[in-house]
Amino acid sequence: AVAIPSAAGATPMMEQFIEIKAANPDSILFYRMGDFYEMFFADAEIASRALGITLTKRGKHAGEDIPMCGVPVHAADDYLQKLIGLGYRVAVCEQVEDPAEAKKRGSKSVVRRDVVRLVTPGTITEEKLLDANEASYLMALGRVKGEEARMALAWIDISTGAFRVAETMPDRLLADILRVDPRELILADPVFHDPQLRPVLDVIGRRANPQPPILFDSATAETRISRYFGVATLDGFGKFSRPELSAIAGAIAYVEKTQKAERAPLSRPEREEAGAALFIDAATRSNLELLRTLSGSREGSLVKAVDRTVTGGGARLLAERIMSPLTDPDAVNERLDSVSFFRAEPRVCEAVRTALKGAPDMPRALSRLALNRGGPRDMGALAAGLKAAREIAGLFADRPLPAEIATAVEAMRALPTALGEHLDRALADELPLLKRDGGFVRGGYDGELDEMRALRDQSRRVIAGMERDLIEETGIRSLKIRHNNVLGYYIEVTANHHETMTGTDAAKARFIHRQTMASAMRFTTTELAGLETKIANAADRALSVELTVFDRLLEEIVAEADAIRAGAGALAVLDVSSSFAYLAEREDYCRPLVDGSLAFRIEGGRHPVVEQALRRQAADPFVANDADLSPQGNDRHGAIWLLTGPNMGGKSTFLRQNALIAILAQAGSFVPAKAAHIGVVDRLFSRVGASDDLARGRSTFMVEMVETSAILNQAGERALVILDEIGRGTATYDGLSIAWAAVEYLHEKNRCRAVFATHFHELTVLAGKLPRLHNVTMRVKEWEGDVVFLHEVGKGAADRSYGLQVARLAGLPDAVIERAKAVLTELEAGETSGKASRLADDLPLFSAAVRREPGPKPAKQDDAARPLVEAVAALHPDEMTPREALEALYRLKGLT
Ligand code: ADP
Repeated sequence: AVAIPSAAGATPMMEQFIEIKAANPDSILFYRMGDFYEMFFADAEIASRALGITLTKRGKHAGEDIPMCGVPVHAADDYLQKLIGLGYRVAVCEQVEDPAEAKKRGSKSVVRRDVVRLVTPGTITEEKLLDANEASYLMALGRVKGEEARMALAWIDISTGAFRVAETMPDRLLADILRVDPRELILADPVFHDPQLRPVLDVIGRRANPQPPILFDSATAETRISRYFGVATLDGFGKFSRPELSAIAGAIAYVEKTQKAERAPLSRPEREEAGAALFIDAATRSNLELLRTLSGSREGSLVKAVDRTVTGGGARLLAERIMSPLTDPDAVNERLDSVSFFRAEPRVCEAVRTALKGAPDMPRALSRLALNRGGPRDMGALAAGLKAAREIAGLFADRPLPAEIATAVEAMRALPTALGEHLDRALADELPLLKRDGGFVRGGYDGELDEMRALRDQSRRVIAGMERDLIEETGIRSLKIRHNNVLGYYIEVTANHHETMTGTDAAKARFIHRQTMASAMRFTTTELAGLETKIANAADRALSVELTVFDRLLEEIVAEADAIRAGAGALAVLDVSSSFAYLAEREDYCRPLVDGSLAFRIEGGRHPVVEQALRRQAADPFVANDADLSPQGNDRHGAIWLLTGPNMGGKSTFLRQNALIAILAQAGSFVPAKAAHIGVVDRLFSRVGASDDLARGRSTFMVEMVETSAILNQAGERALVILDEIGRGTATYDGLSIAWAAVEYLHEKNRCRAVFATHFHELTVLAGKLPRLHNVTMRVKEWEGDVVFLHEVGKGAADRSYGLQVARLAGLPDAVIERAKAVLTELEAGETSGKASRLADDLPLFSAAVRREPGPKPAKQDDAARPLVEAVAALHPDEMTPREALEALYRLKGLT
């Protein structure tokens, strides 16, 4: 929010501006003036900086210049995009009456203006402002007084109408928000200020947007929701808890608040059962780089590596599936069946993908149209989409289909054929962006329109004939009949012919003077003016017929919104399953066996992202590795693999690849492996890499411990845990003991499947004590004193860490490496920690540092040093001349 100037003493226009601004304090106000949106005061300062446009001034207010900047209306989308991208909200304020009306009220009257729409990150629909491959969710958090432990999230993609709701709890709130990754999270003011939610909201950052609590009022929620959907009761929607109602109502209220007069075509809210989705906590989600890498780019993420979809809707669904893998084996297998079907029918797969390439983004076109922001091209997109859907549905004729595909094909067959045909008949081949440009209705569709167009075109021919006649009549060969928006049609001659046109009374009567330019004169005649009116009327009439056609089509489209959305959803499903099949074929993925067991056996597993990266770099191919955490013998619980091996050996890659394979499998994709058997994982935890949180004032070690404690406290027997280098961030013995205890706890208490990578070789002895713990190691080969990484996971423990070899590979100076070798030999020869301090005595390189550190305290000073200390204490350097100082130095030297 910015300071709003007082309206006292303002001009009538400024008064209006200030009033509207006061009603929209947290948005930048785009104030329509002619062909520009102007911004004033603080808004102008913010926008000119953010957009890099010139800050000017306009008039004065309270004795000071009013800062102003503006953007042309036709280019407003680009500027909006930039502001929204930076996290600002924009209130678009239009003139809502004809200026002529205002004049009638008095010469000083200002044209009435009103905010017609709030543009916020979570409520945009414009093609230009959206990424075709990413959903754009607005999320609302519902929390009811007295039931704080139970909350709900509702999320809407206003650009497609998708609407979902789920319950959540304080300890999984962040994970549930990040699973959806909304552009904007709205919540009631008091909830926003609840200190308990601070840590969550810190991560959400500027996307969190506090709103008046009334939006979320659960008592009136049902009424608000039923009113929006035009139903008498919510009984048909299923049962919702109070927090869910609050979240749904909040989301709807905010959509209404931002869209003003227009009604966004939302689907009915669909409830997601708690636990239906694989729970991935926030740290794991970002560490595994599912949608974006830690540095924020899509390149290098899992989604980027496995996305072979060809439509925006498909890309969005694929990302959603990867972000929310399922936990019900039957549901997972239903998806896998679809992929298997396409895998077994490569020709159908290819044909579907080819047909999909031509299918436009129907849900987004639909939303724009329903919000009155759509144009003829959006209708064209629907027409093309309906046609593609018909064609694709035809590709599946006479084949037994797996359930998911059968449902999709059914939804596509249920698409309104009549509407599609109507659009084809009504719309021209080439469509303008804006309906007001006209020309989008196909000739032959509407009799009156054809007539008006004929009249208009005929009149244009008449004008061409009239020009020839006038040239003959006046003898002026350069005479032209032209047209502009101000004068309409006019006759133009160069200034030197002025005599001919105005020399006689007869000429004066015939050629009505309109305008004199430096080098030309412009006239009209009664016939020309008559024709002009006729043409203008015909064109006006034609446009109004076209607009009526547009409205009629729009009405038909909106009436079919649910069917269109279902059909578009079906296309997205086909895109995702056929693309997974294509990926499996290209990348040699296999169908995982997913069931309700606690198995986790991967044969020849690969890391989907690293594998492709190595290929792109033409490096050595990826080395496939097995993993087996399945219960052994009579034990019902899964195993823990303790993975040792040198740095750079491939430990983190192996850890991550197993987590990613589980995610891919439960998302319904084939996986990068020779074979895989996965008993569904319900929670995935990781503590990998250095997800530095220093900006928030937590040390690396603190973050590591917070994440580790979350795992140890929450992982159940169905969880999959991957832990990398626990205890690295602290002193060796602290770290070792923490890692030790953590392994024991995982084994005894959590009893989950886990891979635990560590550089503490001491831990490998635990395998003798804990039956479900197995030692594995990343194999290396020594060759001429150098180490060669084989990237191969084998049974057993690493015999040493090869730290020095790795250090040499990294280019540490030879002197350091040599010295380190000597130190290592001594350390290894010694038994206890006492050795290190003795060693320090003869470490030429480090002695200074080591001596300074434990710094003996004067109190414990042995007697021999006391005279020296006292002598130093007696010195007063500020009062000494350089010569005295030198003498003092010699004296002190004598004391040692
Ligand atoms: P660590 O965690 O043991 O330090 P990383 O997992 O970071 O090692 O792997 C180091 C590098 O080795 C990676 O950048 C990757 O390119 C390569 N690498 C890892 N695993 C494999 C593999 N299985 N096949 C081929 N290259 C691998």
